[in-house]
Amino acid sequence: MKIDINNMTMETARDGLRAGDFTSVELTQAYLTDLPEKNAEMNAYLEIFDDAIEQAKIADQMIASGDATDLTGIPMAIKDNILIKDRKASAASKILSNYVATYDSTVGAKLREAGAVIIGRTNMDEFAMGSSTENSAFGRTMNPIDTQRVPGGSSGGSAAAVAMHGAVYALGSDTGGSIRQPASFCGLVGLYPTYGAVSRYGLMAMSSSLDQIGPFTKTVADAEIVHDAIAGYDPMDATSVPEKTRNENELKQIEPKKIGVPRAIINHPGVLDSVRADFENSLKKLADLGYEIIDIELPSYEMALPTYYIIMPAEASSNLSRYDGTRFGVRQPGKDLLETYMKSRGDGFGAEVRRRIMLGTYVLSAGYYDAYYNKATSVRALIADEFKKAFEIVDAIATPTTPTGAWKAGEMSDPIAMYAADLFTVPANLAGIPAISIPSGADNNNMPLGLHLMASYWDEKTLFHIGKQFQGNK
Ligand code: GLN
Repeated sequence: MKIDINNMTMETARDGLRAGDFTSVELTQAYLTDLPEKNAEMNAYLEIFDDAIEQAKIADQMIASGDATDLTGIPMAIKDNILIKDRKASAASKILSNYVATYDSTVGAKLREAGAVIIGRTNMDEFAMGSSTENSAFGRTMNPIDTQRVPGGSSGGSAAAVAMHGAVYALGSDTGGSIRQPASFCGLVGLYPTYGAVSRYGLMAMSSSLDQIGPFTKTVADAEIVHDAIAGYDPMDATSVPEKTRNENELKQIEPKKIGVPRAIINHPGVLDSVRADFENSLKKLADLGYEIIDIELPSYEMALPTYYIIMPAEASSNLSRYDGTRFGVRQPGKDLLETYMKSRGDGFGAEVRRRIMLGTYVLSAGYYDAYYNKATSVRALIADEFKKAFEIVDAIATPTTPTGAWKAGEMSDPIAMYAADLFTVPANLAGIPAISIPSGADNNNMPLGLHLMASYWDEKTLFHIGKQFQGNK
């Protein structure tokens, strides 16, 4: 049987494997055949593992013995900040260019147990800081739809890997939009789950109170499959939420009917007209599907971006203090310990990472702590509270995923302008609520745009329900 990877989804791969239409070895081979050439053009993968066929053989045994799960035998890609024992994990940073993981992340262990075929680790903005994957120490990743343009970031390699048909699905991490924004730029589905749903154990911490791991897929149905497979309580992550609490919240679920639209933020001057037009089309489509579209107010939404750009660097600056040239990665020896730290960090970190460490240490410094960090945490609470109140009225909230489509590489040289790309995505992280980006249309350059839907805590099912209908399958 001819394997058509350009139209392969999790569902078709799973069903084909189960029906015996093809084996995992054949499926994996189909992906590997052109992969080096594709990757030479896109730079989506930092490394294509040489044991993918071995993994596929194990998966075929699992299928033969009736032990298959939804992930068994399906080739996938993983972001370079999620640890897999005995494999390199560099977070696309020079300082970790020689680091080999000494243990499995919980998500990595789940993939292995489920018989997933991990074909490689993907490029990203260094330590997940950025929105274009240009901040990688190992070269930028191209957008497979237009190679002149960026794939988004920070999980741009994972997005490009799926968009170039170089994996059936991929995992990324999202702290302020790093799954949803590249998914939108590359015409894919991307999910940020409820904070605490997926274990962060073995995910290199960027901003611990915001980070979550989630999927890139071609369909919403696939995102649900991957999410269900990787979510779950993990005692190794102190912020992982016990199953009982999740279930209690899930039980409250009702069929979604009302979708709220925070008009004020959609009218923000930074949002392109073509994005607004596409968003109106999406709302019309949702209305045609029977949803009631209601204008809502989220007065603090506009403060989310500055709040995020205080909390995130504050947490990142303390998380990144562990990379000192002594405990992990590359060491640049100096005449004493301090000089070793300074040389290793000065040489090992790129410009954006150093910028955020400086911002973070500044907002946490004794004289400014109240003015910045404390203030930001209060605004964060306010944002979460406004969402809670909004979800008493509506079942989901819709915005565009991004204020613009994918820009040309090198075009966004001002870091502050790049931060503005996160306008719509950071509020979900600050509140810890689930959010999804679903392909919706295109901008004036014919680059993909996404519809962004947010739901209340543990209400991923609402996102999947609406998303599947939006994509035209019930
Ligand atoms: N673009 C955002 C930032 O640079 C998001 C990063 C992320 O989600 N990891 O902080």
